[in-house]
Amino acid sequence: MSITSWYPGHMKTARREIALAIPSKDVLIEVLDARMPVASTNPALTELRGTKPCVKVLNKSDLADPEVTRAWIRRLETDATAGNVVAVAITRDRPADTRARITDLCRRLAPLRIAANKSVRVMVIGIPNVGKSTLINTLMERKVTTVADKPAVTKKQQLVTLKNGMILSDNPGILWPSMDKDAVLRLALGGALPDTAMDYETVALFAAGVLLLRYPQLLTERFKLTEVPSSPSEVLAAIARKHGCLRGGGQVDAYKAADILVHEFRAGKLGRISLEAPSDAVLAG
Ligand code: GDP
Repeated sequence: MSITSWYPGHMKTARREIALAIPSKDVLIEVLDARMPVASTNPALTELRGTKPCVKVLNKSDLADPEVTRAWIRRLETDATAGNVVAVAITRDRPADTRARITDLCRRLAPLRIAANKSVRVMVIGIPNVGKSTLINTLMERKVTTVADKPAVTKKQQLVTLKNGMILSDNPGILWPSMDKDAVLRLALGGALPDTAMDYETVALFAAGVLLLRYPQLLTERFKLTEVPSSPSEVLAAIARKHGCLRGGGQVDAYKAADILVHEFRAGKLGRISLEAPSDAVLAG
């Protein structure tokens, strides 16, 4: 599936800016979505990063399955192709913990700068809406960048100096022009793509499929279903009936049910759900 039609021009510019800036950085912080570390890894950024030391941050870990997140941390750190990489799971709900852990990891990855008593130069990268701005605000201990629940809000690079002397640069989130269908579905479900990018019902049917396969109990509990529906479309029909989303003649309104399921997933109301586990994916980098 191609997203070229809405791959915005500013993302091409941002990619060029990132490529130019990387050589002068000591450490990259790549922010990923803990619920989907593979889908939220931009292969273009992996390529640009090369062997630069990198802290892979699994953000929004409050929304992800904790056991799967632990498995991801182990996998990311031991992946033979990754090189100079450390991984950490964070959530916006524990800012002090995030500050301490990220600062420590960045310093560990830049021993020469620390030994020379120089500032560690860090760049935050990642796709839209994974929480880059939230992380920078947390590291700064004040609001310096705009946090939004819509993808692609940060439009140009910003430089900030932290209290501990680290110099941090922010970047607009960038996507890549050709994504496979599975990545598109996961990113759309998580909210990294504009809602106009994909039909809601398709995204919700995908979510329903994942829930049936991996978290059937969360599904039945949340929507108070007496049994596990037999298919993704049955999930939407069951949600529609429970929420009274019915059209004339008692027909279920699958679109409204889709809207409910997608928003409940994004808000974590269904429980802590991971869309990918290390056992079913090959790491992008
Ligand atoms: P950016 O586009 O990568 O800079 O992402 P933002 O920092 O603007 O965050 C995107 C959305 O994700 C906002 O609605 C944030 O409040 C939300 N968000 C960021 N971090 C977390 C987190 O750890 N947990 C949850 N549940 N939401 C988060």
